[in-house]
Amino acid sequence: MSKKEILLGAHVSIAGGIYKAITRGEEIGATVIQIFTKSSRSWTAKKLTSNEIQKFKDNWKNSKKIQQVVAHTSYLINLAAKNHSLEKKSIKSLSLELKRCEELGIPYLVLHPGSLVGQTEEEGIKKISQNLDSILKNSKGKTSIVLETTAGQGTSIGHTFEQLKKIRLACKEKNKVGVCIDTCHIFAAGYDISTKKGYHKVMKKFEKILGKKVLKVIHLNDSKGDLGSKIDRHANIGKGKIPKQTFSLIMNDKRFFTIPKILETPVQQEKDFVNEIKLLKKMIID
Ligand SMILES: [Zn+2]
Ligand SMILES: [Zn+2]
Repeated sequence: MSKKEILLGAHVSIAGGIYKAITRGEEIGATVIQIFTKSSRSWTAKKLTSNEIQKFKDNWKNSKKIQQVVAHTSYLINLAAKNHSLEKKSIKSLSLELKRCEELGIPYLVLHPGSLVGQTEEEGIKKISQNLDSILKNSKGKTSIVLETTAGQGTSIGHTFEQLKKIRLACKEKNKVGVCIDTCHIFAAGYDISTKKGYHKVMKKFEKILGKKVLKVIHLNDSKGDLGSKIDRHANIGKGKIPKQTFSLIMNDKRFFTIPKILETPVQQEKDFVNEIKLLKKMIID
């Protein structure tokens, strides 16, 4: 198999060593994987050794299947936090994660933009942009921070394309700030991608507001919640409220062939991704 297949895969574990994630990706039939570079529920991590880094890079380079790797940040980080200690911890932790990605050669680090803590949307957006800049100005590597669309649960920011645009444009380092569309999240946030017409309308809107080049990652998740429910609960493809047709449209959308498409659907074990990847691949019309 050549390394020119459609970029499709899933979030896999790094248990036992980061390099093992590459093998796990191969085992589920993926061409791209998403990983946490450290525990997703902790602020800090042991420094990566040069041996660990080399092992990961070698395994990736030697893989005939895995073309790309994407990372996802810890859930603890909140760049909108104006509480001094939480804000400081968030900046430190994200800087550390960015550095790990640079060391591992991972080009994209997906981040939930943040949640408001008693401030206005404008204030929150300003805070996020400032904190992104303070992190990015110190990074010399090639890794971009990719802001994920959110479902709009609680006080989360990033559930409209306009909010993400505002965050990006307020950043001096905007060339290193991309966007990730999560199908479950945008649907729950109220973007109706349940029909062919709706899908094209939403994607056009995205391009108009954020531009073509900004989209770096797609999370392929079906939604347990209804359109506009603001509920962030992922369902397996074809088992939720988003019609299968929508996933077929994405799989056949030429614009997205080289954009990493990642499943974060509920599975008992990683090998359950095999069938979901197969299902999505079958949707591709030559
Ligand atoms: Zn996420
Ligand atoms: Zn989610």
